[in-house]
Amino acid sequence: MYAVRLWSVRHARSLNAFYRGFEATLVRLNPVFRALGYERIERPVARVEKAVKGLLFDCRMCGQCVLSSTGMSCPMNCPKSLRNGPCGGVRADGNCEVKPDMRCVWVEAYRGSERIPGGVESMSRVQFAVDQRSQGHSSWLRVVREKSGSPKAAQ
Ligand code: SF4
Repeated sequence: MYAVRLWSVRHARSLNAFYRGFEATLVRLNPVFRALGYERIERPVARVEKAVKGLLFDCRMCGQCVLSSTGMSCPMNCPKSLRNGPCGGVRADGNCEVKPDMRCVWVEAYRGSERIPGGVESMSRVQFAVDQRSQGHSSWLRVVREKSGSPKAAQ
């Protein structure tokens, strides 16, 4: 929902702080996830992630979440799916050239990043192109696997 998406950017600092704690908890749960089997829990976890992040960020489940580097403004809501800043078509009022009624996700990303400690610096890091094989998969589990050194699930 668009209004909630804008709310999330306004509350980027607290949402980012919450996510940091949530992520640390998930990483600690790695032995449990391994015991259950990442492949087995992928679907239910992805379903929960989609529901929560869909509500808060209009998440498109790209599977490679960068919200912490984009001020809690999901770049996949950009009609051009740009992951490294805005195109040259941002309107003078800060709205999108493709969707004139929508704020440019990158204008919002900068606003949100200003609210997160180190957010603007983090936003300046170049993001890889989206790996479409991760579409629909859980970013949460992906992060746990990366941070705990667990083998990557087949995609
Ligand atoms: S960056 Fe990807 S995983 Fe994160 S909110 Fe956007 S679509 Fe969802």
